[in-house]
Amino acid sequence: MITVVAERSVLQIDREALVHNAREIFRFSGKGIIAVVKSDAYGIGARWVAPILEKLPEVKAFAVACPEEGVVLRELGVRKEILVLGGLLPGDLDAVKEYRLTPVVSDIEHLRVIGGEDVPFHIKYDTGMGRLGFVEETLEDPRIEGVMSHLSTPADREFSLLQIKRFSSIVKRYPQGVKVHMESSAGLVYRIPFTTHVRVGLALYGEKPLKNYPLNLKPAITLRARIVSVKDLPPDHPVSYGGTYVTRRRTRVGVVAFGYADGLMKTLSNVGTLIYKGKEVPIIGNITMDMTMVDLTGTGARVGDWVTVVGEGRTFGDLARTAGTIPYELMCNVSSRVLREVI
Ligand SMILES: *Cc1c(COP(=O)(O)O)cnc(C)c1O
Repeated sequence: MITVVAERSVLQIDREALVHNAREIFRFSGKGIIAVVKSDAYGIGARWVAPILEKLPEVKAFAVACPEEGVVLRELGVRKEILVLGGLLPGDLDAVKEYRLTPVVSDIEHLRVIGGEDVPFHIKYDTGMGRLGFVEETLEDPRIEGVMSHLSTPADREFSLLQIKRFSSIVKRYPQGVKVHMESSAGLVYRIPFTTHVRVGLALYGEKPLKNYPLNLKPAITLRARIVSVKDLPPDHPVSYGGTYVTRRRTRVGVVAFGYADGLMKTLSNVGTLIYKGKEVPIIGNITMDMTMVDLTGTGARVGDWVTVVGEGRTFGDLARTAGTIPYELMCNVSSRVLREVI
């Protein structure tokens, strides 16, 4: 028996926009794309995103954080190369071999996990990020297919150029023909002359990583939820846990089926807005686990109507600024209970 229920919240993926963004990244950089789909494609859902990207000639490979995520991609039918960015631990080797994953070696212990096996890998350098990667060592190994590094502060031109310079001299120690990649979404602006690929996540999904970003991206994600109750509260009536908001006038309160468990950070309580029919409506009172209250006074909103969390001109980046975080965190927080839909 199939149980049919009403949708309460939906994350829509605009296929056409996703494809447009990939082509735009390719056009701008002139380099093949390593599509970063770690953390379930930034919370959007790898099972929706990966099959679309897999078909694009501009996308040469995928990148994930850990072998489990690589296995999931293979099971979704991905045949292109899958880079595992987040290191290897003892116990990972079987999955790497069986699912043809390409590990990134950023610590000598990762190489020990690979041992003498015939597993091609990329090697990572720390040119200033201070996270993963070798600082100085040069590895001589015929299995090395790629050399990579990562920018820590793409908005800082001076430091980024220093990182690029360091990486340039490291790359020279490796044979011609290895893949070289450093640019992330924000890093694309540097158009590094000696890299062969770009390693991009955020921009694919239509989010601008920098102010004055020179790429013409289309928002690919819309996030909406439905109103489950509308009622008028009298003046002086508290709203939600802790009564952090008290009505000043007769107020039409809408209860939206979307809370912090769905990904709407509690720090947006009494500060953020949602969008009803193109108009911003203030979030009033504390955001709760499954529900958020908005002031719908002056609207004709009814139970069952949709409210936009992200979309209609608002990006995750806009919402993140209000929440005091970054778009990545908000995206990754969108719960699996939010229905995914490709349009
Ligand atoms: C996540 C990640 C990227 C992609 O960054 P975006 O800003 O989403 O383009 C690239 N490289 C590494 C090492 C990463 O961890």
